[in-house]
Amino acid sequence: MGKPTGFMEYRKKSVPYRDATDRQKDFREIFTEPGEENLKRQGARCMDCGVPFCQADSGCPIDNLIPEWNDLVYQGRWHEALDRLHETNNFPEFTGRTCPAPCEGACVLGITDPPVTIKNIENAIIDRGFAEGWVKHERPSVGTGKTVAIVGSGPCGLAAADQLNRAGHNVTVYERDDRIGGLLMYGIPNMKLDKGIVDRRVDLMRQAGVEFEINADVGENVDANQLTMDHDAVLLATGSTRPRDLSIPGRELRGIHFAMDFLTLNTKSLLNSNLEDGNYIDAKGKNVIVIGGGDTGADCIGTALRHGCRSVINLELLEQPPHQRAADNPWPSWPVILRTEYAHEEAISQFGADPRSFSIVTKEFLADGAGQVAALRAGRVDWQRNDGKLRMVEVPDTEQQWEADLVLLAMGFLGPESHVGEALGVALDGRSHYQARHGEYQTTVPGVYAAGDCRRGQSLVVWAINEGRGAARCIDEYLMGTTKLPAPGVSMETAAN
Ligand SMILES: Cc1cc2nc3c(=O)[nH]c(=O)nc-3n(C[C@H](O)[C@H](O)[C@H](O)COP(=O)(O)OP(=O)(O)OC[C@H]3O[C@@H](n4cnc5c(N)ncnc54)[C@H](O)[C@@H]3O)c2cc1C
Ligand code: SF4
Repeated sequence: MGKPTGFMEYRKKSVPYRDATDRQKDFREIFTEPGEENLKRQGARCMDCGVPFCQADSGCPIDNLIPEWNDLVYQGRWHEALDRLHETNNFPEFTGRTCPAPCEGACVLGITDPPVTIKNIENAIIDRGFAEGWVKHERPSVGTGKTVAIVGSGPCGLAAADQLNRAGHNVTVYERDDRIGGLLMYGIPNMKLDKGIVDRRVDLMRQAGVEFEINADVGENVDANQLTMDHDAVLLATGSTRPRDLSIPGRELRGIHFAMDFLTLNTKSLLNSNLEDGNYIDAKGKNVIVIGGGDTGADCIGTALRHGCRSVINLELLEQPPHQRAADNPWPSWPVILRTEYAHEEAISQFGADPRSFSIVTKEFLADGAGQVAALRAGRVDWQRNDGKLRMVEVPDTEQQWEADLVLLAMGFLGPESHVGEALGVALDGRSHYQARHGEYQTTVPGVYAAGDCRRGQSLVVWAINEGRGAARCIDEYLMGTTKLPAPGVSMETAAN
């Protein structure tokens, strides 16, 4: 612990985003330069608690060694901080930008004061590492001769590929899209995670021996059973890609799209032509309504603003979360509170009001007379608690119409698409995700594993890395009879034995 009194001397000072009005004029990242002196002070706020909840169960899902690198940053020992960070996290540049930071929700200092800015420090360590040329992926010196196919190149597939390659296996990642990265590439928009940052890491992995096949849709243009015959093990990391629909009158009208179509086409067009090819759903000059909150809804708002939409509204079925932790949501659990994300800030700066309305149920889409959506009809609901269960009750006489030329459905995802699982005969669980236990990842077909959103349901980048690292360890053990690969929940010492 570098500075025992740091938490009393220094106030929390997060790295600010760019100005909300300016940044919505472009798709560049929203972050600003962190400033080394401030980072040191923020690192000094870490109390090096006897029990670091930030890296335990309710904190970081990949057991990042947070107090250690906070201290190393305070002491200016950046290279060592980077080494400690890479011991548990293959891709800190992804989590440092996108993670909602459950670690900060579990920070002990957070009981009485604002928590340590852990995520900012993590991001600064890895950005410094790249700037200094310290980040390297070595080709393994000894190969095992075993081959592993990974289906899907999101953070889960990439983390597993990186780990298995380090263990000396020949790894090929099959991705049906035209670029590698899964939702890191085509879900999370460029302003939150620059796509050059994803390519940079993929290039390093390629140099270290991982092979990538793009436009390879397993179960469609790549035979799934042949894949299992050609490889010693297969990992399904296909994500949770079936969007939840809203089957109400008027759903067939033009101008109503799934959020992922809007976001994917936008990033593709941005990368291919700086939005000049016109191959995207344009929100310019439109009244946009996003149905559903969460990261996806916020990213739709941020993208629509950058197109120059006329207005943007976000309708959420659930009730508004409280501003402070509720009594049944104590520290160190994840604080379920109202968060004003980057996109909400931008909408407020553009239109002067928060775009979100909570407890709203959409009932019908209304046409303009020519098959195009022109409005929607929605009413208020009341959420009542009975015996610990939530019950939705419609509030009479609250219906109103909202103008809409473009409606984006961001209501979550229902699990992986069926074609790969069906081709391989992999069983699903009760929620239509691949049946496999967390920590084991073995599906009902021997040698076929499943991890990430396709197994656990829609989640977070950091959980995808957790599962990718865990699955790699299980696959290594399956192939070799023993493993030295570390994984979350398995200490470095245990892994080395
Ligand atoms: C819009 C949006 C924003 C988000 N923002 C955040 C955020 O800010 N922070 C955060 O922590 N989390 C965020 N998330 C969640 C996070 O992105 C996911 O939890 C994470 O990417 C899941 O990783 P994964 O590797 O399991 O799957 P994915 O990232 O979904 O990757 C799965 C990959 O498998 C490929 N695939 C599927 N089927 C096949 C097949 N048959 N053959 C070949 N390839 C196939 C897909 O094309 C895809 O590339 C966001 C999600 C969305 C949708
Ligand atoms: S990965 Fe997420 S939870 Fe873990 S230390 Fe980084 S910001 Fe915190």
